[in-house]
Amino acid sequence: MMTAGQYEQSLKRLNLKVYMFGKRVDNVVDDPIIRPSMNAVAKTYEMAMRPEYEDIMTATSHITGQRINRFTHIHQNIDDLVKKSKMGRLLGRATGCCFQRCVGMDALNALSIVTYDIDQKHGTSYCKRFIDYLTYVQENDLTCDGAMTDPKGNRGLPPHKQTDPDMFLHVVEERADGIVVRGAKAHQTGAVNSQEVIVMPTIAMRAEDKDYAVSFALPSDAEGIIYIMGRQSCDTRKLEAGQLDRGNPFFGGHEALVVFDNVFVPWERVFMYKEYEFAGSLVENFAAYHRQSYACKVGVGDVLIGAAQTVAEYNGVERASHVKDKIIEMNHLNETLYCGCISCASEGHKEPSGTYAVDKLLANVHKQNVTRFPYEIARLAQDIAGGLMVTMPAEDDFKAPATAKWLEKYYAGDCDVPTMNRMRILRLIENLTLGTAAVGYLTESMHGAGSPQAQRIMISRLVNLAEKKRAAQKLSGIEDFL
Ligand code: SF4
Ligand code: FE
Repeated sequence: MMTAGQYEQSLKRLNLKVYMFGKRVDNVVDDPIIRPSMNAVAKTYEMAMRPEYEDIMTATSHITGQRINRFTHIHQNIDDLVKKSKMGRLLGRATGCCFQRCVGMDALNALSIVTYDIDQKHGTSYCKRFIDYLTYVQENDLTCDGAMTDPKGNRGLPPHKQTDPDMFLHVVEERADGIVVRGAKAHQTGAVNSQEVIVMPTIAMRAEDKDYAVSFALPSDAEGIIYIMGRQSCDTRKLEAGQLDRGNPFFGGHEALVVFDNVFVPWERVFMYKEYEFAGSLVENFAAYHRQSYACKVGVGDVLIGAAQTVAEYNGVERASHVKDKIIEMNHLNETLYCGCISCASEGHKEPSGTYAVDKLLANVHKQNVTRFPYEIARLAQDIAGGLMVTMPAEDDFKAPATAKWLEKYYAGDCDVPTMNRMRILRLIENLTLGTAAVGYLTESMHGAGSPQAQRIMISRLVNLAEKKRAAQKLSGIEDFL
C-alpha cells in the first residue's frame, strides 16, 4: 500500500493535460484550487496506514492474498460490503467533503461481475484481462476515476441518433493492437487526482448502438485525454492568503470534463467491446454500488451536525427546546441515511463471478433519501447558525486595525469563546451548505450516482408489487386465497 506522501509523489509523475480558468495548469498537485481535493484523496491512503482503522480501511486481496487498501478490493462477503459503507462515513467525517476515490472502487467491482458474465455468454476472455488489470491496481494502490456519464446531447435520442456522434463516447477505429475511442465524460469526480481512468457506458444499449458499448481502462495521462476543471461556488477563496473564509481550509472535492480526443486503448485494457446487451448491466451494477457509496454523505452530515451544535453552544442557545429538537431532527435524518447504506450492504448477495453485490432495491432507496435529507439537514443547520454566516466580513477585516476591534466586540457570542472560533464554525457551515463543499453535500447528493428519477425507475422495477397485492388480497378474504 502507498502512504499519502507516496500517493502525492505518484501524481507528480503524471503528465496530465489540465485546463482551468482558460489556461493549462502546469503543476496540478500544488495548484491551490486543486490541492485540497488531492488532500482528501490522500486521506484514503493515510487512514489505511493507521492501525485503528486497519479493519475498515484495508482488506485481503482475493487474488494475491496481500493486504490492500479497501478502495482497490473486490467485495468477497457481506462483511466487506458493510465495511465499505462504514469506510465512506469515516472518510466523510474526516474530510467534510467528497474524497473521490469511491467511483474507481465501484467501477472495479461492477466490472468484476460483468466481465465474467460477458465471458459466460460469448466465450471471450475479458475477465482474465480484468483480473490482470485489477492486480496491477491493487499492487500499486492506485486511485481510479470511474468514468460513466456521457454529455448525452439530446436526452430524447439514443447514441446512434445524435446529430453529433461524439455525444456518447464510442469506438472510431479498430486496429490489430487495440481500439481508438472518441467522446467525453462529464462531471468526473476526482479525475485529476487519479492515476487511472476506467470508462464505462452510461446507458443500456441496443444493437444499433454497439459502437458505444465499450469499457476500458487507461493511465490518466494517456495521449489525447484532456481535463477541463469545473468551477465551484466560492472556489477562488482558495487563492486568498488566509484560512477563515475558506470554511474548510484542508479538504475539498473537484469535478472535471474529461475529453477523449481519438485515444488509443490496447486490447489488454478493453473490458467490453460491442457486447451491447451487457451495457445496461454494467450501468446498473455500477450505479447500485455507487448509490451505496453515498454513505459518504452521512459522514459529512456528522460534520454539519457537529458544527450546528457547536454554534448553538457558542451562541448560548443549546438548551433552547427548539434548538435541541432541530439537532435531534438532523440526527434522525442522518442516521436514517446510515440505515440505508448499511442495509443494502447487509442484504447483499453473491454474483456468479464470486463478487458480492449490494441489494439493488435498498441501494436505490438509500440514494433517493440522499437526494433529499442533506437539503433538510443543511436547512436546519442554517436555521441554527443565523444570518451572520452570510453577512460576516472578510478575514482581512478581522485583522485590519480600523475594523478588528469592532468585529471582535460585536461578533462575540458566549464571552468564554474567542470570537474567531465562532466565525470559523460559521464559515464551515457556509462552506458545507453554500460554498465549495456544497457541491458535494448538496448538488452531488442530488445528481451524483444518478439523478432522483433514475432511482425511482429502479424502485418501480425492483419492488415486488405482486407479492404485496397477494398479501392484501389474502387478508381481505378474496376467495382465490381461501
Ligand atoms: Fe465517493 Fe461520495 Fe464523492 Fe461519490 S460523492 S466519490 S461516493 S465521496
Ligand atoms: Fe459522486
